Amino acid sequence: MEDKILEMLQKADLRVTRSRKEVLDIFCQSGDQAISSSDIEHNITGIDRITLYRILKTFEESGLVHSVADGSGKTKYALCSHECSGGNHHDNHLHFYCRVCDTTTCMDHVKLPAVRLPQDYQVEEMRFVVAGVCKDCH
Ligand SMILES: [Zn+2]
Ligand SMILES: [Zn+2]
Ligand SMILES: [Zn+2]
Repeated sequence: MEDKILEMLQKADLRVTRSRKEVLDIFCQSGDQAISSSDIEHNITGIDRITLYRILKTFEESGLVHSVADGSGKTKYALCSHECSGGNHHDNHLHFYCRVCDTTTCMDHVKLPAVRLPQDYQVEEMRFVVAGVCKDCH
């Protein structure tokens, strides 16, 4: 795990710091679950909010994580796929928000409907959020 995290930071051209390693470790453990900054705060002792905020911004700009607006009012973040790089995200997958347990899951394998826009409108990013009840709460 440790090696994988170092490799990810190096690949993203980021200096390795203890906090960055700890935050990235939590993302790796969360897998396809999106987590909020308060979730991360609860899991790392002694990290201050501003440091964490900066790390999340840096990670997002470097293509390590993407943000998810799931309608819960909290911004959550999840690990990116390998195709993402700095300033170039490809996370146009569906996010599922469970209203019962308040979790958000990245769903890479769900086929998305094609979006056809009127002429002269250009898509730059797409966000798909589906809310409902997850398999654990069903
Ligand atoms: Zn991404
Ligand atoms: Zn649930
Ligand atoms: Zn996602």
